[in-house]
Amino acid sequence: MNKRVIVIGAGVAGLASAIRLRQEGYEVELHEKESMAGGKMHRIELEGYRFDLGPTIVMMPELYREIFELCGRNPDDYIPMQRLDPMYRVYFGDDPDHPYDISSELTSLMKTIESISEEDAGGFLEYLQEIYKRFIVAKNHFIQKPFRQPKDFYNPATLKQAMKLKTLDSADQFISKYIKNERLKQMISFQTLYIGISPYKGPSLYTMIPMIEFFYGVWFIQGGMYTMASAMERLFLEIGGTIHYNSPVEEICIEQGRATGIRVADRTIKADYVVCNADFPYAMKHLVQDVKAKGKYTDAKIDSMKYSCSCFLLYLGMDRKYEEVEHVHNFIFNDNLEQNLSDIFEGNLVEDGSFYVYMASKLDPSLAPEGKDGLYILMPVSDLSTANYEWTEETIAYYRHYILQSLKKIKGFEQIESEIVTETCMTPVEFESKFHAYNGACFGLQPTLSQSNHMRPQSKATHCEGLYFTGSSTHPGAGVPIVLLSAKIAVQELLLDDRE
Ligand SMILES: Cc1cc2nc3c(=O)[nH]c(=O)nc-3n(C[C@H](O)[C@H](O)[C@H](O)COP(=O)(O)OP(=O)(O)OC[C@H]3O[C@@H](n4cnc5c(N)ncnc54)[C@H](O)[C@@H]3O)c2cc1C
Repeated sequence: MNKRVIVIGAGVAGLASAIRLRQEGYEVELHEKESMAGGKMHRIELEGYRFDLGPTIVMMPELYREIFELCGRNPDDYIPMQRLDPMYRVYFGDDPDHPYDISSELTSLMKTIESISEEDAGGFLEYLQEIYKRFIVAKNHFIQKPFRQPKDFYNPATLKQAMKLKTLDSADQFISKYIKNERLKQMISFQTLYIGISPYKGPSLYTMIPMIEFFYGVWFIQGGMYTMASAMERLFLEIGGTIHYNSPVEEICIEQGRATGIRVADRTIKADYVVCNADFPYAMKHLVQDVKAKGKYTDAKIDSMKYSCSCFLLYLGMDRKYEEVEHVHNFIFNDNLEQNLSDIFEGNLVEDGSFYVYMASKLDPSLAPEGKDGLYILMPVSDLSTANYEWTEETIAYYRHYILQSLKKIKGFEQIESEIVTETCMTPVEFESKFHAYNGACFGLQPTLSQSNHMRPQSKATHCEGLYFTGSSTHPGAGVPIVLLSAKIAVQELLLDDRE
């Protein structure tokens, strides 16, 4: 009989792990507390408008495609994609009438860079060259492999590669070496927020995120990002997997140092292995109740760790189409990014924040009623352990007001307030209650130097056999392509043990 694996959570990493394990011949049963697949890659449906809940920007499409190819499927039948050019538009709050379009085609990109600061164009190319070298090292030696034991990192070959990553300076210090113009710096720095860390604090290595955009492009999946979640769900069912929705796992059962199954609604379900996609800090604190099995991740340790920022999101159904706004992805920067970031990471109510506007219905009109657009607006805010304010109705009204007033300055959105027909929002409190994101941190544990690579929670539990973790708070980190890698690592680890 095939061995049985239980996967907890149908987020991106849970679904990808479940598919990989099923493809390896295991009997795989997935338990998800919510009523649909995707986790943070959910979809919100509101009076004929359909919004992606969380992730929207598709980077590294080959990693999305890999999961379908692995099962002998044509990814185009599941996640039809198109490359975006320009990738996005950037507005600066002090000059909203002169936005910049950012292309991943070098000739157009250089024209834009020169139009911002010709003096910095050479430095921009030097930055790309330097970070590209580090990206190759990270790709080949760090983000695709587990660090099961200290010696997997502390060995001469890996340490030699680690030196090449030159991780000691911050993203901002690194970029400042090559670029002086504040706007240009802002345009290359803000992407560290994609993984929930400030460019002033995040290791310089993370400036590889804009490089990946410039070199490999940004893509759009027909139907929006949720298509990826529903396509993985479909694939998993097609290959014989089982999913239980509305099935919140209460405990990972552990007997004599080995995971033996799960407890759901006072019922115990036995398994040979357990793969946990629920957020690592939450899972260690609440699902792993056997104190020995926690290893160093005691409740006190979990609370002392650093968490990524969170997000406030508005989902607005509008009563018309916005032909004046040409792009799907739009970033609106305020004048003082440094102040904005210090507010987010020091826990202050953001007074003058930058935000992002996504209009998927531009490329897929079926996502809104005929002749209308839906707006998804994301503003980074503090996680719940950092915020020195509460999320009340007043807080929501405050951020909503700020965002709408700022958007009015942008061509096309002058009448935005009166054009809203339906709306809802997500706050850090809901990220915590709905998905068990610890502290409502949207990107899990913050990827500081001391919470990265071998120092980030690894897939294989250190003090319990048969238990594996996957997802944003584990190595290699957050972001859809990166958690797809974390699923690959978790399955490799399980196979290694099972085949021993
Ligand atoms: C607002 C926002 C914008 C983002 N933008 C982007 C982007 O543009 N591009 C990008 O690449 N990434 C983006 N990300 C990051 C990306 O969405 C995440 O890194 C990724 O989706 C995380 O997947 P995961 O599998 O680790 O976790 P999750 O999606 O959190 O999945 C965990 C699952 O476990 C379930 N669960 C928890 N506890 C239990 C339990 N006890 N029993 C059963 N089930 C349980 C949860 O309900 C959830 O479904 C964004 C994230 C957010 C929040």
